[in-house]
Amino acid sequence: MSQQAVSPVLSANTDVSFNVKEAAVVIIGAGAAGLMCAAQVAAAGREVLVLDHANKPGKKILMSGGGRCNFTNYYVEPNRYLSHNPHFCKSALSQYTQWDFIALVDKHAIPYHEKKDGQLFCDNKASDILNMLLAECETSGARIQLSTAVDGIESLPAGGFLIQTSKAGQEGADAVAIKAQQLVIATGGPSIPTLGATGFGYKVARQFGLDVYEPVAALVPFTLTSELKTLSSALSGNACQVSVSCNGQSFMDDMLFTHRGLSGPTMLQISSYWQPGDALSIDLLPGLDAAEQLRADQHQNPKQQLKTWLGHLLSQKISEQWLPFMGFQPEASLASLNGKQMDAIAMALHQWQVKPAGTEGYRTAEVALGGVNTDELSSKTMQCKRVAGLYFIGEVMDVTGHLGGFNFQWAWSSAWAAAQHLAQQG
Ligand SMILES: Cc1cc2nc3c(=O)[nH]c(=O)nc-3n(C[C@H](O)[C@H](O)[C@H](O)COP(=O)(O)OP(=O)(O)OC[C@H]3O[C@@H](n4cnc5c(N)ncnc54)[C@H](O)[C@@H]3O)c2cc1C
Repeated sequence: MSQQAVSPVLSANTDVSFNVKEAAVVIIGAGAAGLMCAAQVAAAGREVLVLDHANKPGKKILMSGGGRCNFTNYYVEPNRYLSHNPHFCKSALSQYTQWDFIALVDKHAIPYHEKKDGQLFCDNKASDILNMLLAECETSGARIQLSTAVDGIESLPAGGFLIQTSKAGQEGADAVAIKAQQLVIATGGPSIPTLGATGFGYKVARQFGLDVYEPVAALVPFTLTSELKTLSSALSGNACQVSVSCNGQSFMDDMLFTHRGLSGPTMLQISSYWQPGDALSIDLLPGLDAAEQLRADQHQNPKQQLKTWLGHLLSQKISEQWLPFMGFQPEASLASLNGKQMDAIAMALHQWQVKPAGTEGYRTAEVALGGVNTDELSSKTMQCKRVAGLYFIGEVMDVTGHLGGFNFQWAWSSAWAAAQHLAQQG
């Protein structure tokens, strides 16, 4: 295979000297996991070709963390991941830890900071992380071919795979068949289709007879209807710290009211545990005993209006909208409240029951729950148990992290685990 000196990124079929018919390892998907895997396998001396239908690599990396990429977390633990097999992620996460990725970031002298709760973000731009991965690919000699659609994959009787490609958007045009000894699927999940996300990986898995858990949008805002939507819309842009619980899970962080419903980190986190029809239990004053506080303040400040009292604890705007919505008198003085009323207010504040109509779906979801059943894969190598030479890495499989850098760490760790095995297959 010919090598290109300047950049590892090639546009499909624009370089006449680059007419690949064979590559030892083909990786489909030039995202977080695909690029990480490519650099590691090529560094071990194997010939690697990465294919992507998008015109640029790593688009989700560039969008991530509000443009600053929350690339890992100091506190990566298996219990920060959802999967039908909660043990599956352990091996890869211990083979390549957050400290290993931080060392790589340090090697490239990328400045970063901890925002909160161990979440590490670039000081500058998410492109620092993408450029780091591209530089690693370039140094190791991994090749990246963009704007390339994969029209079909077949396994060859003598082992290996034949990957039928064409120029993206033009099926059959400039078709090139690529023979690979090993094939890695790193095409991620279907969230944010405008960034090139597809369910391609699930299709490949099913083609090879593998079980796939139906993907569901996760780390996604909730939508509301009727009066709840009117309330959230009136409060759109306002945020407060809450604790939210659903199906035995709780998260404490900010909640943001939007024109269509509820968002913010707490809502994104709990969305991974929410099922249609479930109510969320929202504690608007976490860490405070509202009933006790009301009684104490009734003595201290009997003339204070209820809306002012709550305004100091939440925000004036939220207090003024939320109290009448819940059927309480905002103008009532604290002195006028009896014990039963104070208990009712406190209970409503600590256990506000909200039944979302749904979620915003893949349009805005950060990830998808579900994916390739991990029972089909080796947890040490990510290779399919039933199809030798076929690997799945990153978000395409049924491992989904909490918000906070855990999903990228899964991409790095699963990619690294697969790369160690691929490196020995030459
Ligand atoms: C807006 C947003 C913000 C996020 N922020 C964070 C964050 O700060 N921290 C964090 O940990 N996680 C974050 N995530 C999640 C994180 O981006 C993903 O978990 C991660 O990118 C998954 O890596 P991956 O390599 O498996 O897939 P991806 O990075 O999505 O890469 C998949 C690649 O496959 C390509 N592809 C797809 N289909 C095909 C096909 N049919 N043919 C060829 N190529 C194909 C795509 O073009 C893409 O380049 C965010 C996600 C979004 C959407």
